[in-house]
Amino acid sequence: MSVATVHAFAAPAPKAPLEHTTIPRRALGEHDVLIEIRYAGICHSDIHQIREDWGEAIFPMVPGHEIAGVITEVGSGVTRHAVGDRAGVGCFVDSCRDCDNCRAGLEQYCTGSGMLMTYNATGSDGEPTYGGYSTHIVVDENYSVRIPEGITLDEAAPLLCAGITLYSPLAHWKTGPGTRVAIVGMGGLGHMGVKIAHAMGAEVTVLSQSLRKQEDGLRFGAAHFHATGDPATFERLAGSFDLIVNTVSANLDMDAYLGLLRTGGTLVNVGAPENPVPVNMFSLMFGRKHLAGSAIGGIRETQEMLDFCALHGIGADIEVISADGINDAYERVVAGDVRYRFVIDTSTLAAAATP
Ligand SMILES: [Zn+2]
Ligand SMILES: [Zn+2]
Repeated sequence: MSVATVHAFAAPAPKAPLEHTTIPRRALGEHDVLIEIRYAGICHSDIHQIREDWGEAIFPMVPGHEIAGVITEVGSGVTRHAVGDRAGVGCFVDSCRDCDNCRAGLEQYCTGSGMLMTYNATGSDGEPTYGGYSTHIVVDENYSVRIPEGITLDEAAPLLCAGITLYSPLAHWKTGPGTRVAIVGMGGLGHMGVKIAHAMGAEVTVLSQSLRKQEDGLRFGAAHFHATGDPATFERLAGSFDLIVNTVSANLDMDAYLGLLRTGGTLVNVGAPENPVPVNMFSLMFGRKHLAGSAIGGIRETQEMLDFCALHGIGADIEVISADGINDAYERVVAGDVRYRFVIDTSTLAAAATP
């Protein structure tokens, strides 16, 4: 394939509504695959980047790093994928491939060039990267994963960011039978954490602001559900957990949550508050507790996560929308009004071109 022009939805400027456009996709290189995108999840970080909450961004921006589709063409040197394979792309599409982290399969922590983000970044060819709100993407085969049969592509898409963001820390801190895990916040990220931790065999507790989502939480596999809006929760559950995964991106009272850990327990953060969060060191010292962070996962681990989810019949709980619903969906994500992930049916992108 030579350079192709494909349908996409883009924000033309910071904070502007998304609209139909066309974008170029590079000619297929020796080690590239062409993926016909079928579904693209909407991650809250798409909205942060369009609004430049995290700094100056590149426009027009085609967001989307929860990509699920089918491979329709492969380069001459491709060995890991074949035409017809169901394939996914997550948050990054390249890295240096040579640093210790890349060699260890931790490309997300690449210390060489750093990971090349799927969108809102500039590739080594000097061209901007464009994400999954489009009909096709060309990506190096080493940065694409296989989506096993057993998960539908629409329910698989959010696994590429939300799924791996929760799977990686749960696996790293050895979640399994006998471990007590709390998931703080039950949105797009948190609901995946409940499903995955439960499938790993842990006793899972959801800590949510209110009991509003309790029924869903128990359906996803939680054994317990508590409201953090009730101060009694923190007394009742003191010293309870081996691992707490915090998915909330607002500032929380870290000391209160550290108080819920058992001796030697870990509080790992996967949400990113805008401002620094104060911690009283006594909360860590007495009980030899750990405060940690974790970001998405590497390619190998993302494949492992997808295989795990297929084996256990886990997908995201989703609401499928068409392209003309993207801007409304953004408003609802910001308002926390989604159960639990919006997924764009990318076959509707082209139709949106004709008003
Ligand atoms: Zn994301
Ligand atoms: Zn590297």
